[in-house]
Amino acid sequence: MYVDLHCHSTASDGMLTPAGVVTRAHERGVGVLALTDHDTLDGLPEARACAAALGIELVDGIELSCTWAGATIHVLGYGFAPDAPALQRAIAALHEGRWARSEEIDRRLAAKGMPGCLEGARMVQQERGESGNAPSRPHFAEFMVRAGFVKDHAQAFQRWLGAGKLGDVKQHWPTLESTLDTLRDSGASISLAHPCHYDFTRTKRRKLVAAFVEGGGHALEVSNGPQVDSQVGMLANLAREFGLLASAGSDFHGPRQWSELGSYRAPPADVALLWPRLTRQEHPIA
Ligand code: AMP
Ligand code: MN
Ligand code: MN
Ligand code: MN
Repeated sequence: MYVDLHCHSTASDGMLTPAGVVTRAHERGVGVLALTDHDTLDGLPEARACAAALGIELVDGIELSCTWAGATIHVLGYGFAPDAPALQRAIAALHEGRWARSEEIDRRLAAKGMPGCLEGARMVQQERGESGNAPSRPHFAEFMVRAGFVKDHAQAFQRWLGAGKLGDVKQHWPTLESTLDTLRDSGASISLAHPCHYDFTRTKRRKLVAAFVEGGGHALEVSNGPQVDSQVGMLANLAREFGLLASAGSDFHGPRQWSELGSYRAPPADVALLWPRLTRQEHPIA
């Protein structure tokens, strides 16, 4: 696909540096890319410089963590003013919260006989790229594999780090409502990330979308990486019904993982897209 509005670098939990992500996207034919690291803008200056050198359009992006009805929800913001005070304040709070959270994850895992996880996760993270941000759960998972605490990444999440498990510490996230306020106050276009990734019934998912609309959101991410056609169709229907635009992206985290830059299923042709709001270009999505 020519447009990819969702990917990660070493500024959060990706495997490639921001310049590495932009270069790979360019090689794969992506012409409009949004870097959407978790809760940080740290990767954007390097990504912008690389994009300018290669002639690919970079849209400023972020994937913010928040809570709604007891669950962790991800919201994508695009095209904001990066120095907007509301956004800067929210990111500073998330930065602090993420460090406190990583210490809590470390304590909880140590209490279960797995010492040194924060230090180890930090080591994994720094191997991939210098970052002042707290390590995130995939860094913990990688260290837990290396330390022999689990057999693989999947088991780390199934047993310890996945939704509802001991290491899924989420008390530090702000509410969905306040996150939407922050993004709107910063001039962002806002999309609800991967609405099928949450372990919700259909009814609860509709309630989430209704709360997102109520809070001033603009788009649904109808296509995320290898997500199947039936879910893309269902989410496109939800977008139409709620009067939301559609966004799409690979959610790339690294080579040979579950998704690749520029790869996702195309949204149905008749659904209104978010990305023309974000770019001056007039290219088709595919
Ligand atoms: P964090 O930002 O620390 O909450 O970590 C969230 C990230 O962990 C997600 O963006 C994914 O990259 C990864 N993740 C979350 N749940 C799982 C899972 N069940 N299996 C593998 N990776 C996961
Ligand atoms: Mn991630
Ligand atoms: Mn996400
Ligand atoms: Mn993501």
